[in-house]
Amino acid sequence: MEHSSFDTAAVHAGRSGLNQLGVHALPIDLSSTAPLHDIAGGGHSYELLAAGGSLVEGESTVYRRLWNPTVARFEEAITELETWALRARSSAVADDVQTVAFASGMAAISALLLSRVSQGLGHVVAVRPIYGGTDHLLAVGLLGTRVDFVPADHIANAIRDDTGLVVVESPANPSLDLVDIRRIVSDSGRVPVMVDNTFATPVLQQPLDLGAAFSIHSATKYLGGHGDAMGGTVTTTSEHATKLRQIRAITGGLLDPLSAYLLHRGLPTLPLRVRRQEETARALAFWLKERLEVKRTYYPGFPECDDQNLVASQMYGAGAMVSIELAGGFVAAEAFIGGLELITHAVSLGGVDTLIQHPAALTHRLVAAEAKPSDGLLRLSVGLESFEDLVHDLERGFART
Ligand SMILES: *Cc1c(COP(=O)(O)O)cnc(C)c1O
Repeated sequence: MEHSSFDTAAVHAGRSGLNQLGVHALPIDLSSTAPLHDIAGGGHSYELLAAGGSLVEGESTVYRRLWNPTVARFEEAITELETWALRARSSAVADDVQTVAFASGMAAISALLLSRVSQGLGHVVAVRPIYGGTDHLLAVGLLGTRVDFVPADHIANAIRDDTGLVVVESPANPSLDLVDIRRIVSDSGRVPVMVDNTFATPVLQQPLDLGAAFSIHSATKYLGGHGDAMGGTVTTTSEHATKLRQIRAITGGLLDPLSAYLLHRGLPTLPLRVRRQEETARALAFWLKERLEVKRTYYPGFPECDDQNLVASQMYGAGAMVSIELAGGFVAAEAFIGGLELITHAVSLGGVDTLIQHPAALTHRLVAAEAKPSDGLLRLSVGLESFEDLVHDLERGFART
């Protein structure tokens, strides 16, 4: 169904046909297997789905690893949100876009890398910083990829005949660096570009509208938004999606339907959450910047963090992640975290409550020394608490440093 605004789509996407089913909430199908009409028909359905095809009316879902209707609804919803701007411009590109959901963000990235390796295109060009897990996966070549990490303006030179993917993240984990996605797509030529869109969410950025071939999410973060479900998504063309479903069906990194339900349930409030969290994050970033204990505040909404004006040219807002470099280094960071009472010291991000973590010790622990974040850096995921309460808690942290 077409929805006339992004906010309406967030509420209704992936919910078509519920009235006919006589239900109001999203139905959860927990079947691990499905009845087959006859042997030949079952075999036909099996072949269709194991090759990565989409379920067709009248075919059996056969087995949960091949297809699950609850997961399919969530995928449909993400496709609608990630193609919002394309459809608003009546771009035909949107008609051929699909989403494939996985058990986690890393399962989604792994399936994408495997799909390139299996086609003999195992060379990856990546721009740092990226999430520590992705960085590590690429750096050690665990899945048979070979990587060149290059600055964003060196991509064209790094591309070889066997390059199968360009990997970027914007805003990037943990320093919130932005890259010019349109320029990277243009520099990459025939090589498809993957954008990790986890920090921005489709509310603030839609990479396919900027020319990227793959928009991926750790749905564990903002999409679910409540810190209680894990998942990952890849949104791309039907051709790439078919290959990804084939890999998912055979290697088994599928999203659990209970998690799909929870992640889908997070979507109606996604625009509200992201915009409110952004508002608070912006105010906190300004407040943090004035503190003498803070050497540098990283926030994409500051001109000094966005010299190419990319928030204005490719995003609809600067987001709700803020990082700070403490003048007192690791010792100050440890003391600061020890003083917090409201804000939870934990990895992950994008939920309704504020979290803080030390990237060098945790999310980016496995990153090579030359690309590791500094020891004084703390990353803050701003939640839905009031600005005043968060300031009060941060003051408790500073009082310890
Ligand atoms: C958390 C995260 C991932 C990994 O996702 P999981 O769901 O934890 O597997 C990938 N990219 C970014 C930017 C992340 O923050």
